[in-house]
Amino acid sequence: MRLATTRAILGDLIGFPSVSSQSNLAIIHYIAERLETGGAQVEVMLDESGQKANLFATLGAPRSGGLVLSGHSDVVPVSDQDWSNDPFVMREDGGQLYGRGACDMKGFIAACLASLDTLSAAAQTRPIHFAFTHDEEVGCLGAQSLVKLLAARDVRPALCIIGEPTSMQVYDGNKGCCEYTVCFEGLPGHSSAPDKGVNAVEYAVRYINRLFDLRAELVARCPPGSRFDPPETTLNVGALHGGVSHNVIASRAELNWEMRPINAADMQFVKDAIATYVADTLLPEMRAIAPEAGIATETVGEVRGLEPMDDNAARDLVFALTGQNHAGCVAFNTEAGLFQAIGMDAVICGPGSIEQAHKADEFVTLDQLSQCLGMLERLGEPH
Ligand SMILES: [Zn+2]
Repeated sequence: MRLATTRAILGDLIGFPSVSSQSNLAIIHYIAERLETGGAQVEVMLDESGQKANLFATLGAPRSGGLVLSGHSDVVPVSDQDWSNDPFVMREDGGQLYGRGACDMKGFIAACLASLDTLSAAAQTRPIHFAFTHDEEVGCLGAQSLVKLLAARDVRPALCIIGEPTSMQVYDGNKGCCEYTVCFEGLPGHSSAPDKGVNAVEYAVRYINRLFDLRAELVARCPPGSRFDPPETTLNVGALHGGVSHNVIASRAELNWEMRPINAADMQFVKDAIATYVADTLLPEMRAIAPEAGIATETVGEVRGLEPMDDNAARDLVFALTGQNHAGCVAFNTEAGLFQAIGMDAVICGPGSIEQAHKADEFVTLDQLSQCLGMLERLGEPH
């Protein structure tokens, strides 16, 4: 019965083409109505544009210590993907439900909405909250403003389950994701007189070499027993553009690089180290020749990861709910670290496989959905 309801709600949710570039208001209003009908107190928070919204809802009397069920309402685009059917019309075939967002992560949201009766019962002992955000797929923008709001409140939840597709396995860690674009402005000139110019490509290369040195330091900083793969914080130089010709001193270079930190301390370590190198070494040398030369860093996105902790009450709760006793670490980024950053315990466990996420013919199986329903149902039982 509950599975049939989940299937019907998932069909409705897939029908909203809530691609990150579009407004998500229609799907948020649909979810809000379901939650209100189920007895939840619902808040819809618009962003500055008025076109995007986060939803935060509460079952049970408002008090601290509640559990948040968290998901994102946006999906990745379908353009340039070869779908067998309309990605925004759910199709069922052999126990698999197809459609954009089926596993990432409308399946989890549908299971939550289909379980409001049992969750209401569970909320008698501990408040149950729902956090459904916008723009997760483009840098966790919605969750960043939502956690700020939660952190400022007197009544605060304590635990969070993020229902990203993990095939219902338990994960208590994910690396963060930080992306930077660095522009080097030099001074052009004839290549026969390199001392009269400032070669932006050369400074970009020295910056990159500093990143490579930091890589070795990050390996040395890696805590023993790290469960990430690879275990340490990684850096990637993704693109370098610059210069015009063989015989011209390059006046401009642009570097795109990213970091996948295993913890907040590594993230700060890399940022400080590279900023010091720029301020104390590169900039003084550039400006000794051309005062107008410079290095400008744009932060494209900076989302901290979920740092694995020995004590994690959210993980222990999901262990009890699912009967598992082992937690892993995932390579993909989630909103979990943002909740951890405001002092909550967070864990990742949801229906469907990341293998199917972001691809053509994305699907979730009915079996995965019923496992998720089982987890939510057991929230009402003593454990
Ligand atoms: Zn996702």
